[in-house]
Amino acid sequence: MEKAILYPFTDLARQQREGSLRIVRGDGVRVYDEDGRAYLEGTSGLWCVSLGFSENRLAGAADRQLRTLPYYQLFNQRTHGVAERLAERLLELVPAPLSAVFFGNSGSEANDTAVKLVWYYNNARGRPEKKKIIAHRLGYHGSTIATASLTGLSLNHTDFDLPLPWVRHVTCPHHYHNARPGEGEEEFARRLAGELDALIEAEGPETVAAFITEPVLGGGGVIVPPRGYFEEVQRVLHKHDVLLVADEVICGFGRTGAMFGCGRFGLRPDVMTFAKALSSSYLPISATVVSDEIAEAIVPHTALRGGLGHGFTTGGHPVCCAVALETLDIYAERDIVGHVREVAPVLQDRLRRFADHPLVGEVRGVGLIAAVELVEDGAGERLVRHAMRRGALLRPLGDTISFCPPLISTAGELTELVGIFGDALEDLSRELP
Ligand code: PLP
Repeated sequence: MEKAILYPFTDLARQQREGSLRIVRGDGVRVYDEDGRAYLEGTSGLWCVSLGFSENRLAGAADRQLRTLPYYQLFNQRTHGVAERLAERLLELVPAPLSAVFFGNSGSEANDTAVKLVWYYNNARGRPEKKKIIAHRLGYHGSTIATASLTGLSLNHTDFDLPLPWVRHVTCPHHYHNARPGEGEEEFARRLAGELDALIEAEGPETVAAFITEPVLGGGGVIVPPRGYFEEVQRVLHKHDVLLVADEVICGFGRTGAMFGCGRFGLRPDVMTFAKALSSSYLPISATVVSDEIAEAIVPHTALRGGLGHGFTTGGHPVCCAVALETLDIYAERDIVGHVREVAPVLQDRLRRFADHPLVGEVRGVGLIAAVELVEDGAGERLVRHAMRRGALLRPLGDTISFCPPLISTAGELTELVGIFGDALEDLSRELP
């Protein structure tokens, strides 16, 4: 059966030999396999099912919209109220001066759109040479040709003939691995900002369009940049008239204990991208939100060119927009950000108790996203297998175990999750010499 699908981010040969975990239903923060075994979903699927696996209001919103207007487009001077309402709601939430929304279906599309709109903007401004985009090593921005290029992971480049030539990567802001001996967080942040400054100078500021970053680098290992880093980086970007694109695909909508990672870490972006928790991933939808200045340059340029030559058939799909609107309503009604702030210490403090364990190199995280980096080669996969046997699904990023539980998780569920992790760590310790 496994042969019929080319599964993403999977060792396909191994999968065809060993088979897969087959999940058949979900309830709250748990999912169930075909034999009825329950698992705590410790990473919300792919960092995305913020409201858990049984939010009936989202099913209801989809059902109502399916029976009213199951599809309509946003191309060619057509619109529909549900996309307009969602854009309005998003613009109420995002920081000024962000003022216009472009809808897509995935985080990759949102970041791809960000690149294209930044290029279009610079062409509209008469700066056709200002096109390079800088991203972090170990940043993750998607799997399309452009966004896999921005992604700073070799798995996404090797044998795909990527990255494309207009991308530059800078040092990952991970103090634990990349600081020099004795270098404090602020000093490390200043050094990396200096590297960025030197890179832009060397490339020629007139050729560099934007810098893209996640507020917390998720797929690369849940890396929380050091104190002062983004302040220093923004000073450099401002000096060279380089735009800031904030990829909020994981951090957006409460994950870090603030509505957006940008607010939590003092980022003042020109472009923000969203997906995943925008609809709790019950249906696919993403958004790219741009500043006043970008929107104002783009609008007259579309008149010159005969239209904005960019769009997706199902971008701003009414059913997906209806589910996203209901998701945002639920976040507001349940004060999801307040809830995350309240329960985050259960996850963060309890995980930090493992910091001195002989198999643990670093424990890190913020809000309801965290990671435990193990120091033994191959330990990540083995630990995750023990956790699965004990009833929790966690994701290894190499030998780093990532945690990203649904935002609705209770203190009790988080305690249970960390407890299973601790037991799995002991299982692993007993196996090692
Ligand atoms: N940006 C970030 C930060 C992500 O974590 C992801 C996916 O994990 C993406 C972009 C790409 O999103 P998608 O898989 O929906 O294309």
